[in-house]
Amino acid sequence: MTDPSANGRVVVVGAGQAGAEVVAALRQGKYSGPITMIGEEPLYPYSRPPLSKAYLKGTSSAADLLLRRREVYEQHNIDVQISTSVKSIDPQGRSVALGDGQRLPYDHLVMATGGQARTLPGTVLAPNVHYMRTKVDADALRDRMTLGSRVVVVGGGYIGLEFAAVARALGVEVVVVEVAPRLLARVSSPVIADFYRCQHIDRGVDVSTGSSIEGFDHDQSGAVTAVRLASGRSVPADFVVVGIGLVPRTELAEAAGIAVEDGILVDAHMSTSAPGVYAVGDVARFPEVTSGTLRRLESVPNATEQAKVAAASILGRPRPYEALPWFWSDQYDLKLQVAGVLEHGHELVVRGDPRIDTSFMVLHLNRGRVRCAEVVNDPAGFAAAKRLIVSGQQVPVEALRAGTKPLKEALALT
Ligand SMILES: Cc1cc2nc3c(=O)[nH]c(=O)nc-3n(C[C@H](O)[C@H](O)[C@H](O)COP(=O)(O)OP(=O)(O)OC[C@H]3O[C@@H](n4cnc5c(N)ncnc54)[C@H](O)[C@@H]3O)c2cc1C
Repeated sequence: MTDPSANGRVVVVGAGQAGAEVVAALRQGKYSGPITMIGEEPLYPYSRPPLSKAYLKGTSSAADLLLRRREVYEQHNIDVQISTSVKSIDPQGRSVALGDGQRLPYDHLVMATGGQARTLPGTVLAPNVHYMRTKVDADALRDRMTLGSRVVVVGGGYIGLEFAAVARALGVEVVVVEVAPRLLARVSSPVIADFYRCQHIDRGVDVSTGSSIEGFDHDQSGAVTAVRLASGRSVPADFVVVGIGLVPRTELAEAAGIAVEDGILVDAHMSTSAPGVYAVGDVARFPEVTSGTLRRLESVPNATEQAKVAAASILGRPRPYEALPWFWSDQYDLKLQVAGVLEHGHELVVRGDPRIDTSFMVLHLNRGRVRCAEVVNDPAGFAAAKRLIVSGQQVPVEALRAGTKPLKEALALT
C-alpha cells in the first residue's frame, strides 16, 4: 500500500554517497512523487573510498567510481542536477534557492552535504599542498606521484596512512608527520596504531609522531619546499598531503536556523529541528542507540544506513537508526575492519600476535560485553565479532584471551 505522504516533492541537497542512497531507497520503497537531487560537483554520485586506494594507485578507473550509471537515475525518474549549488534553504516556505537564482519548492528536504577537508593553516595559497576529498583532489595527486618524488603527509589518520601506502607502492618517498603521540590516535586502539606504525616503517615510510609543524619554506611561486617541525627538523618536500579531518558542511542549515552543533543535529529518524527536513551521512550528528551520546560518523555504511532511515521516514514507515556502525581501511595488503564505537577506557583483548601475524583482532570490552572490534585480515572473525557486539551477550574473557581457535569456535557461537 502506498502511503499518501509518498507523493510530495523530495529535494536532496548533496549528490554524494548519502544523497544517492536516499533517492535509491525512496524509489525502492515505491515513492511515486518527484525527486530532485542537487550536487555541486561535476560528477554523478561516486564512491570516495577508492580515492585513497585503487583509484589513486591507478588500478581502477573514473567510471568504476560511479555508484550508479546516469541512465539508472533517468529510468527511475530521478532528476539529478550536477554542477549546481544550493545557496540557501527556507524551511518556513519549504523551498531551496539554487546558484542561478531558481527556487525549488519541496515537501521533504534531505541535507546530505557531507563535509570538506580541514585546511592546514599557513598553506592556503601553496599550489603543491593537497587534500583528499574529491575526485579532482585525487586526480591532482595522481599527477604528482612520480618515482622518487618526496611527499610530507600531515596527519596520521586513516586517509593519510592510506595515501602513504599507495605512495610507497608507487616509489614515492614518504614522511608522515602526526602531532599526537601515536598514529590513528582518535580512531584506534594503541595496539592497532603500533601495528600500522611498524607496517609503514617496514615499507620505508618515515613516521614522525608527536611532531608539530613550526612553519613552511616556500619557493618564489609560493610552493612549499620544506616543512619545518618544532623539533628543529626540516623535511624537504616536492608536495604535501594534508589529512587532518573533516569539517561538516552545516552552513546552509545554520543560516536557515536549523539546530547545528558539529554537524546538523538529528533524532533517531534523521529528522532535524525543522519539520520536513532530514540530514544524513557525514554531516548528521545523531543519538547513538545504546548510550544516546551524540555522534557524527564518517563512513560509507553509516551514510547508507542513515539514508535508508530518512527514506523510511519520508515513505511514512519510520524506523530508528540503530545499525551497528562499521567501516574499513585498506593499506598495503592489510584490510582493517572496525565495528562498534571505540571508547577509551575499555578492557582490550588481543587475539593473535600483531608482532608476528598480519591477521589478528583487538576486542574492546566493557563489563564483559564486547563493544568494539578492530580486525585485521580476518573477515570471518570480523563477522563473528560483529554478532557478539550486536547480541550484547556477556562473554568469558578468559576464553577470549586463551587459545588460537577462531573466535566463532572459541566461544561456541552458532
Ligand atoms: C579519500 C577518502 C577515503 C575514504 N575511505 C573510506 C573507507 O575506506 N571506508 C568508509 O567506510 N568510508 C570511507 N570514506 C568516507 C566516506 O566516503 C564518507 O563517509 C561518505 O562519502 C559520506 O557520504 P556523504 O554523502 O555524507 O558525503 P559526501 O560523499 O561528501 O557527499 C556530499 C556532497 O554534497 C555536496 N554538497 C555540499 N554542499 C552542497 C551544496 N550547498 N549544494 C550542492 N551540493 C553540495 C558536496 O559537494 C558532495 O559532493 C572515505 C572518504 C574519503 C574522502
